[in-house]
Amino acid sequence: MALSGALNALKSSKLISWKPSGRIQQTIKRCVDANGTTLHLGKYSTVRILPELAGKGRYFYFNSKSIPASIDYAQDSPLCTTLSNDGVKIRTVEHLLSALEAMGVDNCRIEITNFDSDDSDSEVPILDGSAREWVDKIEKAGLVAAEDECGNGCEKLAPYLNEPIHVLKNDSFIAAFPSPKVQISYGIDFPQVAICSQWFSLAPLEDSFYAKQIAMSRTFCIYEEVEHMRDAGLIKGGSLDNAIVCSASKGWLNPPLHFPDEPCRHKILDLVGDLSLFARFGNQGLPVAHIVVYKGGHALHANFVRHINDSFKS
Ligand SMILES: [Zn+2]
Repeated sequence: MALSGALNALKSSKLISWKPSGRIQQTIKRCVDANGTTLHLGKYSTVRILPELAGKGRYFYFNSKSIPASIDYAQDSPLCTTLSNDGVKIRTVEHLLSALEAMGVDNCRIEITNFDSDDSDSEVPILDGSAREWVDKIEKAGLVAAEDECGNGCEKLAPYLNEPIHVLKNDSFIAAFPSPKVQISYGIDFPQVAICSQWFSLAPLEDSFYAKQIAMSRTFCIYEEVEHMRDAGLIKGGSLDNAIVCSASKGWLNPPLHFPDEPCRHKILDLVGDLSLFARFGNQGLPVAHIVVYKGGHALHANFVRHINDSFKS
């Protein structure tokens, strides 16, 4: 099979060099369907993931409009990652995109439909608050080499970091260092509840580590903050079925945890989803680097991606 080079003529920058990953671009073999309640809007939506040609990347399709899963379409929003384009918005894309990036679904069309309303806003179903169901369904559907319009396979490129960089906000930071493989080390600190200080480190693209160690880690929240978030119009669909909840006085309200450090692992799940927004033309989104994050969140993750993205503009 001839490999198509034209699509992959990606420009490198001072910070990033695009290099062969040793793999070819993939898509899913069969459609994947899921539906359920959404976390923030508290509505019901359905998602269908369809195979797509090499070089097309990942994109959402909602209300007859396409929204590329790219940092250029990411919008700041509290407690989730939102994509918007041409008057339509898709919230809470991070867990689905995390599963797609980690499992190697490089090209796909993600159709989303609101079950009971025709709003210009939609949201990906929260499911159990993790990426487990997405990973199971992707594994069941299977992956195939994606072909371009001419029927050729396409080499998958990966963005290698050339020099150390960091982004900061108050006492939160992301620092990334050149490395021969993708390595993530994440730290969180919630001294007011039983979560306390946790660190977790892994190479998410190796040896099914993501599927085994990260995918089933659920969204978490602090019970004492729930009312405040509800007052802000958030987590209308939140429940003990789609998040693990920790109270300052009572500890975990819905044990058992899947891992003692499940909250920290969930932050890595979120980070992989947010970093996937750097992907373009079906190539890898996760920068090849050792990425160290302390007390990060979606806004800081997005700032990091914007920082490396901006290096292509100067
Ligand atoms: Zn999350």
